[in-house]
Amino acid sequence: MSNYDSDILIIGGGMVGASLAAALAPLSLRVTVVEAKAPRDPGQPSYDDRSTALAYGSRRIIETLGLWPALESAATPIHGIHVSDRGRFGVTRLDRDEQGLPALGYVVDNRALGPVLWRAMEQSQVEILCPAGIKAINLKRDCAEVSVSTEDGPVVCNTRLLVVADGARSTTRELLGIGADITRYEQIAVITNVTPEKYHEHVAYERFTDTGPLAFLPMSNGRCSVVWTLPPDEADTALLCDDDQFLSALQDAFGHRLGRLTRCGSRHSYPLFLVKAAQISGERHVLIGNAAHGLHPVAGQGFNLGLRDVAALADVIADNDDPGDAIALRRYTQWRESDHDRVINLTDGLVRLFTSDFAPVKLARGAGLAALDLLGAPRGAFARQTMGLRGRLPRLARGVPLR
Ligand SMILES: Cc1cc2nc3c(=O)[nH]c(=O)nc-3n(C[C@H](O)[C@H](O)[C@H](O)COP(=O)(O)OP(=O)(O)OC[C@H]3O[C@@H](n4cnc5c(N)ncnc54)[C@H](O)[C@@H]3O)c2cc1C
Repeated sequence: MSNYDSDILIIGGGMVGASLAAALAPLSLRVTVVEAKAPRDPGQPSYDDRSTALAYGSRRIIETLGLWPALESAATPIHGIHVSDRGRFGVTRLDRDEQGLPALGYVVDNRALGPVLWRAMEQSQVEILCPAGIKAINLKRDCAEVSVSTEDGPVVCNTRLLVVADGARSTTRELLGIGADITRYEQIAVITNVTPEKYHEHVAYERFTDTGPLAFLPMSNGRCSVVWTLPPDEADTALLCDDDQFLSALQDAFGHRLGRLTRCGSRHSYPLFLVKAAQISGERHVLIGNAAHGLHPVAGQGFNLGLRDVAALADVIADNDDPGDAIALRRYTQWRESDHDRVINLTDGLVRLFTSDFAPVKLARGAGLAALDLLGAPRGAFARQTMGLRGRLPRLARGVPLR
């Protein structure tokens, strides 16, 4: 068994873990990443058929990391967002001009985003152990002793900071004995790409239907990336029926704002649940990304929130000689908790509000959307939150490099 030391050990080289490794590159720290699945493994979540809606704030972080040029040609800008409630009055619109920005966000294929982040991690002098997994963790006052199984045999790594970034079903969280509130939504997200008759004009549509939210996100070549939330039995039907039947049901749910839906790509499904870790830091360890908070995909917030974790943690680490210093980790936790709570409440609240069958709630939400459309100030606050521009921003989100 070989033994070695590192300053920071990141468990999980998914989109969030890889972003952190890339962000830490200028700090001359010894960083190790342990990743269970190689980039081309079909089970690797960072390279699947989903698209990610990147908030404008995330673009700034990616740009400060120097990665935007590699991504820009694959990113479709979102100029407007249209929110509606199927079969009821009331819509809300958000517009880039009103926010004074070139775009509210960007839609990128995970097949483009994942490799850009992985390559950035590879180029940043990080030690990558892949495929590899964690066997045991022993937390001590001055380091975490982590037993890792690799293809070449077991390794023990002593690290000053253990970063847990192994996703919503984090086994490292369990090994650390950290509990999590897990709520199943009894909903499945069916994803695909469609080509509508009319051009999307760079508008993202979020439509609340009786079964759950339905998103159409603008993509290249006039296509839209679709995330359709359905109860499990309806999701099975949507996955198994033929393309014509699927497009007809989707058309019925979305309506005719973009004309006839002419083609669709392959369909995939994701069970949805809310995960909230009982704590996000402790002695010599910190949780980021989905390991700390797994969200419903409504409003496309999960990766954006994780990337803000990355920017804040990198900021705190840059200001401390010891990356696992207890006071620094407490600072990180206090900084991130309010953003986590706001986004969890926003996404979970939207899902609950718009799937309620209670008649007065249905009436009130139509009125709420109409009121939000009329009232500039709350709409602006809502837009800043979803764009990741609210609250105290870390250096990377302000365009300031760490070194
Ligand atoms: C349908 C859908 C649509 C979405 N759309 C958006 C969107 O538009 N915008 C947005 O911001 N977010 C979106 N999200 C959320 C976003 O995909 C996630 O928040 C993000 O991918 C989380 O990244 P992560 O790196 O924290 O976790 P993961 O992507 O789960 O990565 C975890 C990594 O850890 C590895 N791993 C797991 N266990 C171990 C172990 N024991 N040891 C080592 N490695 C391990 C895994 O192989 C993986 O590489 C969407 C989610 C869904 C389901």
